[in-house]
Amino acid sequence: MELDYYSQSKSLYFLSELNNNDTHEPLKLQDTKFYKQELRGKDVKLAVYGKGGIGKSTTSCNISVALAKRGKKVLQIGCDPKHDSTFTLTGFLIPTIIDTLQEKDYHYEDVWPEDVIYKGYGGVDCVEAGGPPAGAGCGGYVVGETVKLLKELNAFDEYDVILFDVLGDVVCGGFAAPLNYADYCMIVTDNGFDALFAANRIAASVREKARTHPLRLAGLIGNRTSKRDLIEKYIEAVPMPVLEVLPLIEDIRVSRVKGKTLFEMAEHDPSLNYVCDYYLSIADQILARPEGVVPNDAQDRDLFSLLSDFYLNPGKPAVTNPEEQLDLMIV
Ligand code: ADP
Ligand code: MG
Repeated sequence: MELDYYSQSKSLYFLSELNNNDTHEPLKLQDTKFYKQELRGKDVKLAVYGKGGIGKSTTSCNISVALAKRGKKVLQIGCDPKHDSTFTLTGFLIPTIIDTLQEKDYHYEDVWPEDVIYKGYGGVDCVEAGGPPAGAGCGGYVVGETVKLLKELNAFDEYDVILFDVLGDVVCGGFAAPLNYADYCMIVTDNGFDALFAANRIAASVREKARTHPLRLAGLIGNRTSKRDLIEKYIEAVPMPVLEVLPLIEDIRVSRVKGKTLFEMAEHDPSLNYVCDYYLSIADQILARPEGVVPNDAQDRDLFSLLSDFYLNPGKPAVTNPEEQLDLMIV
């Protein structure tokens, strides 16, 4: 494939920026004009994280449509090897970047944007990174390669919003890669111990990445819960905004089975508009470019004690010594 003129000049520009260094020392990516321009552009890049099965993809798809309803051109990138992130946008499991690369014998230069970008509901564009066969290879590496390929295709320049729907936890550099590009991270959690524990690990990754990148945590999205007492307990320890708390809603579960977003379902059933409003509210908060936070450092063990104590004894004062609490649990 010949790159078009724009792509060529952009790639050459990128390379020349990388090599434009009198001392011939390797330049850090964040030193380049290209990098700064990209992050300072008008577009916004979001990375959605959260425990497995908590509702990241469902929430992502509906936020993407909500952003599109606000007139934004949106790309959603599914970064989970499960490759079902964009299912409710397109109504089918689209071919993944890895499928396409395999088909092209890993000749990146033969891949066109239309090979990997599929149109979803509301005009949201969709990409699935895919992954290695279950139980083999490195899924995180695939995410890194996906980002590279999309940059090569200049796909990122086209959008007002790019949303990365990532994984349960930031398990390795590859799955953390979207945080290198994102302006904001959002964490989906319920009101339970496990999801908040996972949230804290993600918050720690955001804190780490924020040292070298202009990344902020936009906040938590509570999902599938009408209670928020444990969430509140967590944000007492690690202050961060709560963007919305969505209850368990049967129609959201049904939307997944139907392969439709809530917005598409609401076209025929206006009683669902109230559900869409949750997602529109999140979209509006993001478009207002919130300040967000760089999360506090809460050590896993301390947090484990704090949450488990509250979970087990919601009415009682917290055990002050975390070691004591852990000992009690182990016994
Ligand atoms: P993840 O991407 O985090 O693995 P999914 O978005 O695939 O999770 O959601 C897992 C399941 O939970 C899906 O069947 C989805 O429909 C359902 N779900 C998500 N959010 C809600 C909600 N607020 N109410 C009811 N079901 C939900
Ligand atoms: Mg998912």
